[in-house]
Amino acid sequence: MKIHEYQARQLLADAGIPVPQGAMVETVEAAVAETKRILASGQALVVIKAQVHAGGRGKAGFVKLVKTAEEAETAARFMLTNRMVSPQTPPEGLKVTRLLVAAGVDIAREIYVAILVDRERRTNTLIASKEGGVEIETVAAKNPAAILKEPLDPIRGLEAWQARKMAFALGLDGKLNAQAVDLFLKLAKLFKESDASLVEINPLVVTPPTDEHPEGRVLAIDAKFNFDDNALFRQKKVSAMFDPTEENAAELEANRFGLSYVALNGNIGCLVNGAGLAMSTMDIIKLHGGEPANFLDVGGSASEEAVTQAFRIILSDAAVKGILVNIFGGIMQCDKIARAIVGSAKTVGFKVPLVVRLEGTNVGEARAILDAARRDIPGMQTATDLTDAAKKVCAAVA
Ligand code: GDP
Ligand code: MG
Repeated sequence: MKIHEYQARQLLADAGIPVPQGAMVETVEAAVAETKRILASGQALVVIKAQVHAGGRGKAGFVKLVKTAEEAETAARFMLTNRMVSPQTPPEGLKVTRLLVAAGVDIAREIYVAILVDRERRTNTLIASKEGGVEIETVAAKNPAAILKEPLDPIRGLEAWQARKMAFALGLDGKLNAQAVDLFLKLAKLFKESDASLVEINPLVVTPPTDEHPEGRVLAIDAKFNFDDNALFRQKKVSAMFDPTEENAAELEANRFGLSYVALNGNIGCLVNGAGLAMSTMDIIKLHGGEPANFLDVGGSASEEAVTQAFRIILSDAAVKGILVNIFGGIMQCDKIARAIVGSAKTVGFKVPLVVRLEGTNVGEARAILDAARRDIPGMQTATDLTDAAKKVCAAVA
């Protein structure tokens, strides 16, 4: 699960990490009012930022620094009436309904910091780079040596010496070093306690010296979190931050019926039981030159209604030009699937070719049900095995 930046800032602030004050607004008027409030508090600079689950906002024009209420109005109106397109969004972009209005800061340096699960090392790892504010993937490709890593001990977590080492490697000395160490340690604690799988602060900034802070301050001015969905049951504060409007509608609908569905870009809809079988079904489709339109695992104990719903969701994707049903009946009974296919033909209607491969529990009964329904489902073919099924569905959409 992902959250918005304004929510991430709240988590950081609650963990004692310094973040500039801000508020989430949903209208141009509220953005203007919030800007006036911040300016009146003595701040010279206000930042207005689109809140969507995608980065690259700065370059897309959806992070704007303003100094007056008029500038705030223009920026907020632009963001709330245009879709944001960045390398991290779909080509048609994302609709923006929420904005963060926060105190802007002067920046002396931008640093990149993240903690994530490093699957190669099998540890959580603190990652940082002096080259902040830019996409870390670009840094990794052009200058991999600029990316610093400190693995976290599974029991002890991030240790003070590691945080200090990292801060020095980033060129932070004296009081700035102490600020960064404190921040890294709090971030590691928050990462663990919130069951996060990624926390990224890009940029973490150093502000120029002022009378009040002669050495400058280390502040988080952007934040991104991913959380482990399997831990949400014990993360009430995090799960309350869920924003359904940022999720794929079909995936949410599938979730309601206990189906695991992930939308993909191809044109062959897949209905499979078991995540492993669903993965291999996608592999074999690709092996035969096709492109899966989705991952869909109906699970072992799905009801006929859930399977019908699965067909409805697959067919709601206009790109789908054919469907492959691949069921290996263990707990799942093949006849239940066969009945759901016949039922769906009536209620949903198969406008595209359907290839069915069934094997396992009650397969004889299932085949009899499908045979009897052949005339009602003219676009249906049965397959003898998985390869045969993949060849048939790829040929059907070609
Ligand atoms: P992203 O592009 O979606 O990652 O959005 P960010 O919040 O990281 O903002 C992009 C860039 O805008 C940052 O790297 C900064 O250079 C700039 N920026 C954001 N907030 C401020 C601010 O308060 N003051 C200044 N001077 N620049 C900012
Ligand atoms: Mg950023």
